[in-house]
Amino acid sequence: MTYQNMVMPEAEIALQAAAAAATATQKPPVAPGGFLNISRKQFLEMGHSGSGGGGHSWVDSMRASSPTHINSTPSLSDDQSSWMVRHPSALDMFEEIITASKGKQIVMFLDYDGTLSPIVDDPDRAFMSDAMRATVRKLARYFPSAIVSGRCRDKVYSFVRLAELYYAGSHGMDIKGPSKGSKYKKGNQGVLFQPASEFLPMINEVYKALLNKTKYTPGATVENNKFCVSVHFRRVDEKKWSELAQQVKSVMKEYPQLRLTQGRKVLEIRPTIKWDKGKALEFLLESLGYANCADVFPVYIGDDRTDEDAFKVLRERGQGFGILVSKVPKETNASYSLQEPSEVMVFLRRLVQWKKMTLRRQFRLKRRLEELKMSFAI
Ligand SMILES: [Mg+2]
Repeated sequence: MTYQNMVMPEAEIALQAAAAAATATQKPPVAPGGFLNISRKQFLEMGHSGSGGGGHSWVDSMRASSPTHINSTPSLSDDQSSWMVRHPSALDMFEEIITASKGKQIVMFLDYDGTLSPIVDDPDRAFMSDAMRATVRKLARYFPSAIVSGRCRDKVYSFVRLAELYYAGSHGMDIKGPSKGSKYKKGNQGVLFQPASEFLPMINEVYKALLNKTKYTPGATVENNKFCVSVHFRRVDEKKWSELAQQVKSVMKEYPQLRLTQGRKVLEIRPTIKWDKGKALEFLLESLGYANCADVFPVYIGDDRTDEDAFKVLRERGQGFGILVSKVPKETNASYSLQEPSEVMVFLRRLVQWKKMTLRRQFRLKRRLEELKMSFAI
């Protein structure tokens, strides 16, 4: 899940905590997902009192990632309407999007949690619906498609269960081609890339340390995502969030080679390598043979800060666009928005419908031309 700056200088952790420690006491977090970084030093020093200073700000930030809190913000409707002007609904802009993709190969990149499946309290139960699975299956029939998730690749595959897709797990640090083989790329479709494999023993170690450290905090869940570890706050009482962050902090002190990022009610620990969802997107485009192509149109749909790395890559390449899944205004590099996974499904279905119609039309046209040729030949 999240953010813009992939690689933090050593001294920084991209704890994109909206809560930038220094200013939060004056400024309530009106824009969830605002891209404020907090330095590693700040994070490690935060909240010694448990609620004051940086710790409090950080908790505010985590709270701000919950739409229920944001919805109660009085000025939201104004914020929302101006935000929607800048990031209009991808459904409303469907025709414009199709026009922009004309003559280009659309390649689809989809985040999983909060994009294809709803955010639920128990991360092990973040199932996608059968209808969504059927939609993604059809999508992959017409477009090269990849799932890009913070989760461990095996885990996200166990939710999606579609062998025809590319999967980039652990924020893109574990990339594998379709096990069925791909009509878009020939050759070996096994594991394509694991840039952080040397960190595996350390990740396992920090996972165990975090399990042990957080075991007395009710609701805290630590998930081993192979190349990164997630500490989920979703089922933890907000009063305990500072305490849980402190526990993470105490473990992180021992691992300067790891960095911390914040997503939606989750803290994630990962290697300090220059790799993120944006790099994964570029790698996959290259693997598909579109490295330097002008006629490719990548579309990335995601719901939180780690997806911003991919949105940013698309913006910088000037190719395709990002769609942020969010009900509330957020600072983003995405061009368009969708409110929730159900809208993502509608958008994907429309893409499939459009492609089917286009192919049918092309087929009819080809047949008509052949008939004409035949009649002239006679
Ligand atoms: Mg997500």
